[in-house]
Amino acid sequence: MSATLRRLPQTNDFLNRLRDIVGVAHVLTDAQDTLPYLDEPRGLWHGQALCVVRPGCTEEVSGILALCDSTGHCVVPQGGNTGLVGGQVPDCSGKQVVLSLTRMNRIREVDPGSNTATVDAGVILAQLHAAAEAADRLFPLSLASEGSCTIGGNLATNAGGTAVLAYGNARDLVIGLEVVLADGRVLSGLSKLRKDNTGYDLRNLFVGSEGTLGIITAAVVKLFPRPRAMATAFIGLASPQHCLDLLLLAQSIAGPDLKTFEFMPQLGLDMVAGWHPKLSVPLPDRHDWYVLMELASPAQDGLADTMIRLLAAAADQGIVENAVVALSLEQRTLFWRWREYLPDAQQREGGSIKHDISVPVALVPRFLEQALRAAGDVVPGARPVPFGHLGDGNVHFNVSQPVGADRDGFLARWSEMNVKIHAIVVACGGSISAEHGIGVLKRDLLPDFKDKVALDVMRVLKRTLDPHGTLNPGKVL
Ligand SMILES: Cc1cc2nc3c(=O)[nH]c(=O)nc-3n(C[C@H](O)[C@H](O)[C@H](O)COP(=O)(O)OP(=O)(O)OC[C@H]3O[C@@H](n4cnc5c(N)ncnc54)[C@H](O)[C@@H]3O)c2cc1C
Repeated sequence: MSATLRRLPQTNDFLNRLRDIVGVAHVLTDAQDTLPYLDEPRGLWHGQALCVVRPGCTEEVSGILALCDSTGHCVVPQGGNTGLVGGQVPDCSGKQVVLSLTRMNRIREVDPGSNTATVDAGVILAQLHAAAEAADRLFPLSLASEGSCTIGGNLATNAGGTAVLAYGNARDLVIGLEVVLADGRVLSGLSKLRKDNTGYDLRNLFVGSEGTLGIITAAVVKLFPRPRAMATAFIGLASPQHCLDLLLLAQSIAGPDLKTFEFMPQLGLDMVAGWHPKLSVPLPDRHDWYVLMELASPAQDGLADTMIRLLAAAADQGIVENAVVALSLEQRTLFWRWREYLPDAQQREGGSIKHDISVPVALVPRFLEQALRAAGDVVPGARPVPFGHLGDGNVHFNVSQPVGADRDGFLARWSEMNVKIHAIVVACGGSISAEHGIGVLKRDLLPDFKDKVALDVMRVLKRTLDPHGTLNPGKVL
């Protein structure tokens, strides 16, 4: 049946049918109740919705989708609402249904023998960390939003974060998925099998699809041995090339024990210090660049020695200018604060034009050199604060407005800045979205950057799995 032939029932009739599925209390229509689901963290997008529906189980999600798909109502899935590309926010028509997964927050099983956890999609990432730890295991996905984001959202966006270097991104951490398709059918793939070569890999279709192909209702994720020892260093360096040299040295000396390699510029530290004046500075002198490096191992012994050996070798080779190793958990927490407070500090500095990009790791210094120059050419006085996951070649190239500039006037240059920075990304063989996804923010850019055949295949998949365009229309494609 085509979308145009389907008849929209009266709104009240439709809402009553939704209430029959999930219960009266879980269909929100009151403006005050729905507001938290219509805005997102940065305040960049705000939408309207016919209602917010909050199912409590997979069968209810199935019933909602069957109803919406047959009556021409579009559905916007939402987890923790921490996404940074607007994918979880409805449009302004007031006709879309926001489907919030947050009531589905049950940890169905932790299986230490198989090193897996089976969880509902609405489980908060931090809740899963705690459940894994209680079983003496680690779930390594680590994001600053982990107190709010959900596993369903993490998988739908193929989230990255600070542990990708060692464990991979969300895609690498999932074994099985349960997904409700647009017409309400349930694709049950909650398998714990590490090996299963029985045809096409459907699971990976839904990971990173940002709610446009199906609604993830549960997942089987991988668990790992919990680290018993950890060594954390805060390091001052002269240039991005020195940061890269340190990464390669660390990989050769620490091997799989290298878990985190985050970088940031002096300006980033200055911004954090400006908003958190009581935070004590890790190193006595100023350096142009800093790296937060962490080693971790399930073995108890030897890690501190590895860190010292590694830093000594780096100093001998003239790679690092200075470094400090955390002597306590408190000091480690302090080091991490400098990294974790940075996005917020930059937001408080006024307008910021964002680029979540990746390039081959070896080309990060070249990208930075060219992009820093280009940002200044587009808006003289603009303050780029590139930071992020150097070990993955993922740079958050966020450009703050010049001091005292007009915020709106600066943000009006967003596209112009994007064009220049993305051209450098392309010349480096990189991607315009490393970990945040496409959503609405980059939807119109995608055709300029994605391989044409790949885009065609994506459109065919969308039409096949969601012929009526019910799921998250206007996002990604
Ligand atoms: C402070 C902060 C730090 C962050 N750091 C990182 C970082 O380091 N790395 C990173 O990758 N991201 C980061 N993010 C972005 C964000 O946290 C991630 O994208 C996260 O995975 C989104 O999860 P969520 O539950 O909040 O999803 P939402 O924001 O609710 O949704 C995101 C997208 O997924 C879809 N979706 C949500 N749930 C489902 C589901 N069950 N089934 C199908 N589709 C669904 C939505 O429709 C939307 O398109 C950060 C965000 C903030 C605010």
